[in-house]
Amino acid sequence: MSGVGSIPALPRAPERRFAAYVFDLDGTIYLGDELLPGAAETVRALRAAGSQTIFVTNRPLQTADEYADKLTRLGIPATTADVVTAIDALTHYLQTRHEGETLLPLAEPVVHRVLRDAGFPITAAPAEADVLVVAFDRTFDYTKLLTAFQAVTAHGATIVATNPDPYCPTPDGGLPDCAAMLAAVEACTGARAEAVVGKPSEHMAAAFLQRLGVPAGDVAVVGDRLATDVRMGQSLGMAGILVLSGATGLDAIAGSPVQPDYVLSGVHELAAAAGGEALNGITTRPESR
Ligand SMILES: [Mg+2]
Repeated sequence: MSGVGSIPALPRAPERRFAAYVFDLDGTIYLGDELLPGAAETVRALRAAGSQTIFVTNRPLQTADEYADKLTRLGIPATTADVVTAIDALTHYLQTRHEGETLLPLAEPVVHRVLRDAGFPITAAPAEADVLVVAFDRTFDYTKLLTAFQAVTAHGATIVATNPDPYCPTPDGGLPDCAAMLAAVEACTGARAEAVVGKPSEHMAAAFLQRLGVPAGDVAVVGDRLATDVRMGQSLGMAGILVLSGATGLDAIAGSPVQPDYVLSGVHELAAAAGGEALNGITTRPESR
C-alpha cells in the first residue's frame, strides 16, 4: 500500500476475478434512481462467471427488501439476502452483544420496526432503556434529545449508533445524517458510543462475510468512498476498489491515508475480469430499466 502524498494511480481494473464482490449502492451502482453506466451488465457478467454479488449501504431509511426491490426494478435482480444495510449490521451487533436488552431508538419508524421484528423490547421511557440506538432521524428534535440525555445520564444506557456519516448525499446537496444526531447526544451526555456499526466498522463486514462464506482474501469491496468502502474492505484483508463515479475524484486519492488497491472510472470496468470485454463508454441499455 502506498502512503500519503503518493502520486495517484491511473484508473486500472483488477485482472483477476474475485469469488465475491461487495458493492456500495449510492455513487457505485446507481445515483438516485438511475443506474450508473454498465452496472446491470457488469453484475450479470460477474454472476454468470460464478462470482457472488452483495450490496451494502449505510442508509437506514429503507430495509434490505426495499433496496432489493429497487435494484430489481432498475434491472439488477436482487433478493433481501443480497442486501446488507446499516440496520442489518445494527441487528447483528445487538443480537451478539445486547440480546434481550431493552432498546430506546432515536430513529425513524423503519428502525423501530426492524428491531421490534428481531425480538427486542422497545421503549420510549428513559428509565427502561438499556441501549440508546442512534440513527439518521429526520424527525430529530429537542424532546428526543432530552429523552436520550436522560436515558444515558440518569439510567446509564449504552449508546450504539448505526453509521458514522456526517451527511447523506442527495441531488439537492445532502441531509444531516447519523453523525450529527450522535454528536448532539455525545455533547450533552459526555458519553461516547460503544459502537458505530455501519461502514467502515468490522460489524458491517462481519454481517456480510458471514453470508458470503468465502475467505476475505477472495472478496473485493467496491465503492465510491475511501474512508468507508475502501477502508472497510482493506481492514479485514479484502481488496478495496475505488470507483470515481460518485463522491470521490482522482485528486482526493493522493492526500488520503486510505490508498485503494484498484481505481476504476466505474463498475463497468470490472466486466473484463468476468471474461468479457470492458464495457468502456457503455450507456445503460433500455432492457435494464
Ligand atoms: Mg456510496
